[in-house]
Amino acid sequence: PGAGGGEQGQLQQRSSHQQGPRRKPDEFSTGPAPNRPAFEALPTIFMMRILIANDDGYLAPGLAALVEACQGLGEIDVVAPEQNASGTSNALTLQRPLTVWTAANGFRVLNGTPSDCVHVALTGLLPQRPDLVLSGINNGANMGDDTIYSGTVAAAMEGYLFGVPSIAFSLAEKGWRHLDAAARVARSLVERVLAAPPAGPWLLNVNVPDLPHAGLRGLRTTRLGRRHASEPVIRQSNPRGEPIYWIGAAGDAREAGEGTDFHAVAEGCVSVTPLQIDLTDHAGLPGWADRLAAGHV
Ligand code: MN
Repeated sequence: PGAGGGEQGQLQQRSSHQQGPRRKPDEFSTGPAPNRPAFEALPTIFMMRILIANDDGYLAPGLAALVEACQGLGEIDVVAPEQNASGTSNALTLQRPLTVWTAANGFRVLNGTPSDCVHVALTGLLPQRPDLVLSGINNGANMGDDTIYSGTVAAAMEGYLFGVPSIAFSLAEKGWRHLDAAARVARSLVERVLAAPPAGPWLLNVNVPDLPHAGLRGLRTTRLGRRHASEPVIRQSNPRGEPIYWIGAAGDAREAGEGTDFHAVAEGCVSVTPLQIDLTDHAGLPGWADRLAAGHV
């Protein structure tokens, strides 16, 4: 009551500020606000700015679900690829210019890769630096060695490279069957992390089992598993009789034991893997130094 009323008033003030005139609604609106009290779980967060991207393209249901799930957490900007850009990893488009247009729902659409979207957003498109970058929700898992190829993870990684805390979300099976549950998980996780955010930039890779929300068996903090090498390419012929090749399917999980992302998702748990970028083989470094020290260049 007494002090609580003051807090309530403060929250309402923040809420109305959120809808204030800082941005033109035709440029930035991401659709009608849901019937959800703003900041109900985030009393300490003031005007968080969230950039959301994906790799499945601006029309993907997973993107709309993530944006909807984050309503009320802050000011949301969406910058997403025009085309499905899954599997593009961290590619940046350097050989042609990029154009951006705004879709009817307020999403910015960029004719490039997921990394292009976040890169352009952070280096000139957005008027202010976001406090958080989210990517997804991807159509399919991004676990183990797949994270190397993932455009979803790459979009989040681009935010992390620029020093912004970032989270990639993936639904572990293709087809969006239980996307609503994954969206609830995404919101809940963002709220939990932002309630007491770790210092410095960080990057989380989240995979949600494709289960109804009631069927999820909790959350596990995991390490990346490993996969066997990919299946061979599929060779076919084009109508002129020339050979064409399709990249083969990913290999089966090779290291999927306790503690891995594969294991958590197989057990029905949400997998959260903290990622870093340093590819140095630290364990192998001294051996290489010894091996190469005496040689000539
Ligand atoms: Mn994708």
